[in-house]
Amino acid sequence: MPEIARRGLCLVIAAPSGVGKTTIAQAMLAADTTLIRSVSVTTRPPRPGEADGRDYHFIDDTRFAAMQRQGKLLEWAGVFARQYGTPRAPVEAAIAAGRDIVLAIDVQGHALVRAALPGDVVGLFVLPPSMAELARRLDSRAADSAEQIATRLVTARQEMARAVEFDHVLVNDDLDTTIRRAQAVLEAARCARARLCGLGTFVAELG
Ligand code: ADP
Ligand code: 5GP
Repeated sequence: MPEIARRGLCLVIAAPSGVGKTTIAQAMLAADTTLIRSVSVTTRPPRPGEADGRDYHFIDDTRFAAMQRQGKLLEWAGVFARQYGTPRAPVEAAIAAGRDIVLAIDVQGHALVRAALPGDVVGLFVLPPSMAELARRLDSRAADSAEQIATRLVTARQEMARAVEFDHVLVNDDLDTTIRRAQAVLEAARCARARLCGLGTFVAELG
């Protein structure tokens, strides 16, 4: 299919822990094999079922500090007493190659990536349908203690106050509807005129 050459974009999906951003990102990646997933580094231990290199690169504090020092992280943040960061090289390579990359990170990370890549970020914030449902989802994931879940719910309220920093906001009630809407956000962003570096050439070659 004829395509207009364009810069790639960085789709940042942020949401309080447990709202469903990983689930949404995975569905988008499964449905669109051109999409690239950013795999973050973290100093937290893997949860049951998580694989190194797929869900995260699980690294220790020394390695994390070295990556920070060497400029290998596009952004990083301390979340729940652990360190998380986005490796810089895959994001920059994807954008330069006209490919799109998805980051499922927190609100601090979104602000930092937006500042680091002006014009290349599409920010999507996802809200829970209710706090009770968020608590249920955190519980159903069976990854955290009751105390950790209580902390995540307090943090969720602080993060939701920053929804205004995003380009798009969705409520993740029915999952299929949310995925469809997130895909619509991505498709619209792909057509944004500012990103179409090959527009003049394409029109000229139409004859
Ligand atoms: P996050 O990445 O935001 O921390 P997850 O994607 O891990 O959240 O989702 C947390 C839990 O909620 C998972 O068990 C997931 O299957 C479930 N979940 C996600 N979206 C929905 C939804 N729309 N309805 C019901 N459960 C959902
Ligand atoms: P979890 O431990 O539940 O996987 O993630 C905890 C929080 O860290 C979530 O809000 C998640 O989005 C965020 N997170 C994961 N990776 C990154 C990252 O690379 N950078 C930032 N800033 N946050 C991240």
